[in-house]
Amino acid sequence: MAEAPGIELQGTARFGAVPLFAPLTLRIDAGAWSCLLGPSGSGKSTILRLIAGLETGVDFDGTITASDGRPVAPRVAYMAQTDLLLPWLDVLGNVTLGARLRAETPDLAAAMALVDRLGLSEHAHKRPAQLSGGQRQRVALARTLMEDRPVVLLDEPFSALDARTRADMQELAAETLAGRTVLLVTHDPGEAARLGHRVCLLDRNGLVESPPPATLPVRAVDDAAMLAFQARLLTALREAG
Ligand code: ADP
Ligand code: MG
Repeated sequence: MAEAPGIELQGTARFGAVPLFAPLTLRIDAGAWSCLLGPSGSGKSTILRLIAGLETGVDFDGTITASDGRPVAPRVAYMAQTDLLLPWLDVLGNVTLGARLRAETPDLAAAMALVDRLGLSEHAHKRPAQLSGGQRQRVALARTLMEDRPVVLLDEPFSALDARTRADMQELAAETLAGRTVLLVTHDPGEAARLGHRVCLLDRNGLVESPPPATLPVRAVDDAAMLAFQARLLTALREAG
C-alpha cells in the first residue's frame, strides 16, 4: 500500500445563501482513525463527499490538502451512506466492482476470502434484492475494503448491523485498515468511542474535538474509560445545537 497521508479540510459550505457549516478545520491524522460525530443534517456526509471529490451541490469555500501535498481524491476509497449496490450483480460481482470498472481482472480469491470473513460466503451468488439490509451493508463494506487505498472514507458503515455483527465488523475493519488514514462518519457515540484515535463533533456551531481515552482503538466493549468517554460524547451530542 502507498504511504497514507494526513488530510486537512479547512473552510465553509453553504447551499446558495443557506449556510451548512461555519468555518472549520478538520484534521485527519495519517494512518489513524478519525471519527466525525454529529446530528443528522450537520454536514457529515457532505464533508466525506468533498474529500472524495464527489458532487455535493454545496458551495465549498476552502481547501482540502494532504500532508504530502499530493491530490487527495484519487487515493480515496469511499463507502456511501446508502449501499449503492448494483442490483444486477451478485455479491461477488459487487465486491469486485472497482476492478471491473477499471477494466482490471478482479482478484476473485481475495474477494471470496473477504466475503467469507464478513460472514457472507453462503450468499456470494445472491443479488442485492435477496439480501437483508445488514447483509447488503456488509457487501458495500467488503467492496470498500477490496479497494487497496491509503485513504478510506466510511459513511455510517455499520448502521444497519445488529449489535453483535456491528462489534465484529468494527474489529474486522480496524484490523483490515490498520495503517490507513480513515475518516469514519457515525451518529453512534459508542462506535466513535471504540474506534477513534481522534473524535470530532460537528454541529451548527462548528467542529469541536473530544479527546479519547489513552487506551488505543479498538477499545474493548467493557473498557471503563471507553464507556465514560461514550457517555461524555452522548452528553455533548444531546447538548449540540
Ligand atoms: P449529515 O450526513 O450530517 O446528516 P448531510 O451532509 O447529508 O448531513 O446534509 C447536510 C444538510 O444539507 C441536510 O440538512 C440536507 O437537507 C441539506 N442539503 C443537502 N443537499 C442540499 C441542497 N442541494 N440544497 C439545500 N440543502 C441541501
Ligand atoms: Mg449523512
